Amino acid sequence: MELAHQDIGYCKGVGNKRADTLRKELNIVTALDMVTTVLPYKYTDRSKFYKIHEIVDEDTAVQIIGEVTEWHMVGIGKGQRLSATFTDGQHMIELVWFRGVQFVKLEKGVQYLLFGKPTRYNHQYNFVHPELTPMSKVKPQMLQGLEPDYNTTDGMKRIGLNSKGIRNIMASLMPDVQHGVAETIGQDILDKYHLMGRRDAILNVHFPPNTAVMQKARERMKFEELFYIQLHILRQMKRRENNEGFLMPIVGKHFNRFYHEQLPFELTNAQKRVIREIQGDMKSGKQMNRLLQGDVGSGKTLVALLCALLAVDNGYQACIMAPTEILANQHYSTLHEMLQPKEGGEPIARVALLTGSTTQKQRTLLHDSLRNGSLNILIGTHALIEDEVQFANLGLVIVDEQHRFGVAQRAKLWTKNIRPPHVLVMTATPIPRTLAMTVYGDLKTSIIDELPPGRKPITTVHYSIQRKASVNQFIRKQIDLGRQVYVVFPLIKENKDLELKDLQNGYNELCETFPDYRISMVHGQMKAKDKDEQMRRFASGETQILVATTVIEVGVNVPNASVMIIENAERFGLSQLHQLRGRVGRGADQSYCVLMTKLELSKDTRQRMDIMVATNDGFRIAEADLQLRGPGDLEGTQQSGLPFDLHIASLVTDGQILDIARSAAKEILDNDPLLEDQYNQMYKRRLDVLRQTTTYFGEIS
Ligand code: ADP
Ligand code: MG
Repeated sequence: MELAHQDIGYCKGVGNKRADTLRKELNIVTALDMVTTVLPYKYTDRSKFYKIHEIVDEDTAVQIIGEVTEWHMVGIGKGQRLSATFTDGQHMIELVWFRGVQFVKLEKGVQYLLFGKPTRYNHQYNFVHPELTPMSKVKPQMLQGLEPDYNTTDGMKRIGLNSKGIRNIMASLMPDVQHGVAETIGQDILDKYHLMGRRDAILNVHFPPNTAVMQKARERMKFEELFYIQLHILRQMKRRENNEGFLMPIVGKHFNRFYHEQLPFELTNAQKRVIREIQGDMKSGKQMNRLLQGDVGSGKTLVALLCALLAVDNGYQACIMAPTEILANQHYSTLHEMLQPKEGGEPIARVALLTGSTTQKQRTLLHDSLRNGSLNILIGTHALIEDEVQFANLGLVIVDEQHRFGVAQRAKLWTKNIRPPHVLVMTATPIPRTLAMTVYGDLKTSIIDELPPGRKPITTVHYSIQRKASVNQFIRKQIDLGRQVYVVFPLIKENKDLELKDLQNGYNELCETFPDYRISMVHGQMKAKDKDEQMRRFASGETQILVATTVIEVGVNVPNASVMIIENAERFGLSQLHQLRGRVGRGADQSYCVLMTKLELSKDTRQRMDIMVATNDGFRIAEADLQLRGPGDLEGTQQSGLPFDLHIASLVTDGQILDIARSAAKEILDNDPLLEDQYNQMYKRRLDVLRQTTTYFGEIS
């Protein structure tokens, strides 16, 4: 029987209760789900025997042959345990049982096979609850090949579905794999890329005879996972290429007036190039779906504005959607000012702002001017995707800092005109290549790989809090030179109260240290009005220091601020640190970023700080970030933040397989964009199955 039609509840060793749990915890319904999505995260080599003195860590399960020399009960009450001494003939090690002591049968003079993970206790290793099997009862096949280990959940462990429990179920399912699993990848591709067939891959991913075969099996499983994601993404892209789009061939007076009369500086070559790429899409007659990547400070806002003006030139409206109110406000005031002619008079285009704080009265006016078309560009937070916001003729949507918007929110924008508008997505910082190829894989990409001229690289230093006094001295010196300073504190949702106190304390401390300076403070829980006021005071130079949480992370632009102090920098991720640092270095002055951490740092944190000190290049930092955040064990299952689950492939380590999977998928679709060929029906059917069972594959935008 095909495993795909076999209810997991009816499989040997499962039953209703376990089936329920498997469905709830891991979304497993069939036997095929079980063998293809619950995959080992590591293996233990059961053909290898250790000696006691070879134990070097707690991570590796080991097996040792030896004897038990003596045992006795120690401790009283809850701490009572059975302690035994085990020897391999040369060294001794303690074995401990806290529970089930009555079931432990020990005999002197008997050879045992001990199997388990060592624990480090009081500077020595011991084994807690090891498996101890008399050698006379060890079956030879137990000592062959690699033994799989599976991740489980607490709920699963409670009903015996620990790693061993799962291993037993897998073992009983394996005989059916040979005849009950269909191939999902064409023979031509298997041949071309030297991939293992699906059955062999499943058998060998669970119970490989050796490491080489295990790797081939995993490679095939990873390929399949990434291949179908790419096939899905690229097919969507092909379909959309046929989407009629609003035709915007004109470069007209709005664009030209702004370009020739308003621009205070020359565009960088990279900015010119990406505008040409975007304009190429807008005049193609097809709907644009493009990703704009550029490092912090590379001038994405200006590109956005110029594209919006192109839309206006062609009789359409544009909107720019930002993730936070602060950022929306800031975009609004920047663009509003830039569009004001130097010699006075009517603005080059009409812009308005819509956020959660826009009053009902303002909204009514705004809705009218949107509907009658007198408003050209609307800037806002996600407030602008609400149903009541109706445009006369929306033609271009620009989404700034895309990652914070959900798919459903984006889909709403599609319905704001008779056809989907052109879409330009801008990321806050560069994103790693593998993420760009998957999460944004259905978008064409433009990259601004050049900063405006004259920027001095930001000098970054890493200090421990012990050196606070010299940091304060430095702040004073910079302010006396006429500069302004940001001081940022972490604020992470789970612990709001505690950390707001940190922020408040930090603020008070700074007030005491610098009684002669004026200090602003902003955080996410302030009223929008107060936040704006504080930001305004800092932007206008009224205050010298801005104490803030990460609400200032994205987009804030105060060119005279040249120092960024990040408190508790160990609490931030790399891309966040890079974003924060990007708030300085925007003017002509030499800028500084000071990373303050506690003295004792984990290896990981130290690496993060070192990378920040070593480079200003957001593309390099993005790659390093992914490497560092990568999963510890073999390869990761939970890659948070991805719209799809990866059971075995990893975007950290499997970049090469991803490349191959993408070209294989591309080759198929280049020859048969709609998967109509007889030979490609297998792929089409598989995508349909995935669409029914996986949210990611179901979403059509
Ligand atoms: P980001 O890409 O991080 O959104 P911004 O659009 O905020 O960057 O631009 C950063 C700063 O660089 C702004 O002050 C902007 O006016 C300025 N800028 C943008 N393009 C140029 C350019 N071609 N030459 C000089 N300055 C520029
Ligand atoms: Mg920006």
